[in-house]
Amino acid sequence: MIIFGWRVVFFTLSKGVFHCPDCGGDREYRRRQGRNFFTLFFIPVIPLNKTGGEFVECDTCHGRWNLGILEVPTTAQLALMPAMLLRMAIAQVLRSGDYTHAAARGRAVTVVREAGDPSYDDGALTADLGRPFDEVRVEMARASSALAPEARESILRAAAEVALTDGPLSVNEEGTLSAVGADLGLTHVQVTGVVSLARQSSGH
Ligand SMILES: [Zn+2]
Repeated sequence: MIIFGWRVVFFTLSKGVFHCPDCGGDREYRRRQGRNFFTLFFIPVIPLNKTGGEFVECDTCHGRWNLGILEVPTTAQLALMPAMLLRMAIAQVLRSGDYTHAAARGRAVTVVREAGDPSYDDGALTADLGRPFDEVRVEMARASSALAPEARESILRAAAEVALTDGPLSVNEEGTLSAVGADLGLTHVQVTGVVSLARQSSGH
C-alpha cells in the first residue's frame, strides 16, 4: 500500500529581531514561507506551488504577522533613537561652523556619550561629519515624531551649546540650527527660545 498526499512545508528564509505586538517586546523571529509538497509515506518528496506570501513568525509566542511588521522599530532601536538624533543634530551644526575646533569636538563627543552612546569617540564624530546630510535630514524628520517635544528641544539645545563652544554663533550656524529645529518638528518660536537659552548659559 502506497500512501501519498500533499502537505505544506514551511521554510525559514531569514531570522532577526522584531517587536512582537502579542509578546509586547523585542523577540527573535523567523521569516517563513510555505510550500506544498507531494508526499509519499508522509515524506515530502516533490515541491509544488508556493502557498501564499511570506510571513514573520515570533519564536516565542508563534504568532504570525505580515512582513510589514518588520518596519516597526524594536524597543532597542527606539531606545537608541534620542542618542542617534542628537548625534546627527550635533554633526550638522558642528559642520556648519569650525569643526576642527578641539573644544567643540570634545564637547560634542561628551554630550553624545552622556546621552546613552558610551562608545562614541572622535573617529565616530569624523564619520558623522562626512554623512550625506540631505538624506540624514529626511530620516531625522521621520524619526523625531516618535519623541516628546521636550526631548526634541533638549536635542536642539545640546547642538546649540556645542556650536557656542568656540564663540558666538555664526550666520551659518544659526541657519543650520533653524533647519535642524524644523527637522525636529519644532516651531520657529521654540527654536528661537531654545537657542537664546543656550546663548545665555554660554555667555555668548
Ligand atoms: Zn510573540
